[in-house]
Amino acid sequence: MYFGSVKFFKHLIIGVIILAIAVPTGISMGLSVSNKKKTDEIKSLQAQVSGISTGDTAMPDTPEALFELYKNLEDKESFLKLLSEYDSELYDKFVKSLPAMNGDNTIPAEVVPSPVSTTASTTAATTTVTTTVPEEVPLIEFTTTPPPEVSEYSDIYPELYCDTTKNVVYDEDKDCVYLTFDDGPSQYTENILYYLDQYNIKATFFVVPSGSDECNRLLRRIVDEGHTIGVHSKTHVYNDIYESVEAYLKDFKECYDIIYAATGVKCELFRFPGGSINDFNEETRDEIIAEMTRRGFVYFDWNVDSNDAGGATWTEMYTNVLEQTANVNRAVILMHDHNNGYNTVLVLEDIIKALLTDERGYKFDKLTNTVRPVQF
Ligand SMILES: [Zn+2]
Repeated sequence: MYFGSVKFFKHLIIGVIILAIAVPTGISMGLSVSNKKKTDEIKSLQAQVSGISTGDTAMPDTPEALFELYKNLEDKESFLKLLSEYDSELYDKFVKSLPAMNGDNTIPAEVVPSPVSTTASTTAATTTVTTTVPEEVPLIEFTTTPPPEVSEYSDIYPELYCDTTKNVVYDEDKDCVYLTFDDGPSQYTENILYYLDQYNIKATFFVVPSGSDECNRLLRRIVDEGHTIGVHSKTHVYNDIYESVEAYLKDFKECYDIIYAATGVKCELFRFPGGSINDFNEETRDEIIAEMTRRGFVYFDWNVDSNDAGGATWTEMYTNVLEQTANVNRAVILMHDHNNGYNTVLVLEDIIKALLTDERGYKFDKLTNTVRPVQF
């Protein structure tokens, strides 16, 4: 048989036909074997899980062994629910180690469990699992009630904690602008409310309430007009409140109680006087933050500072806000509602107008517990 002869071509054609039939058949047989293997695996996993739920099979007792089972499951959510009911401590351990075992620092959305069963809500504490992720990635946090953790401060105001059971996926909030007003109410609160209403904007007020009738009236107006109200301080005296965790808690509680009495709102958000990092809390800040977080409260610092508290002029405030806002993905803007706040009122409308008409298409909103915190 010579290359190019009739016989050569005959053999070539037969060869090609055989290849054309045999190869796909072989592949598909192989695939069906592997599909069957996969189906068998899933069946056996499901049997294992249902065995666990009926008590016939033991639940793996280490996060690693759980992960081996978990990673192949289709219904991860039911498994997590089962695990949380079976052993809440093991569940916490497992969920905390999940990101590392996934080789990732985020918890994939599909593995976030439904809120833990209400049977757990008989004790009071809060477990928060938060992952550190880049600004752009929606961050998922969940808090379970009850929080089993205790601290050396648990006996101080044990009822002072945020008891909302959260299963939070943070808002997509690129280009969002959050106006925040600290230190109010003041003689200018109603002017600020007026401009916010004119432009149908919701904002956030971190207040320093005196408890007077006039103050309570203004607190109610803030709430009635749909804005977020948060704790700032009762006294705003840095040297006192940052002296110790106990001193901070006392000041926070007084502020929290006045707001609750006046408005019926149990604040979930707060802002530290001077921000979370300041010259007065170097010694105590870590412990204070840990204690407030343990209690489920969320604090917001800011990433845009109008510097109205520092005596900025109209022009300086306007420039500060617009320039800094342009440099961030989303802006938490620090302004003040205080009795020296005349410039703030003067410039507020112009800032709102400039941002509303900016080509970037900013949206104004208020802070809530589904807004990813801005923290120093
Ligand atoms: Zn302040």
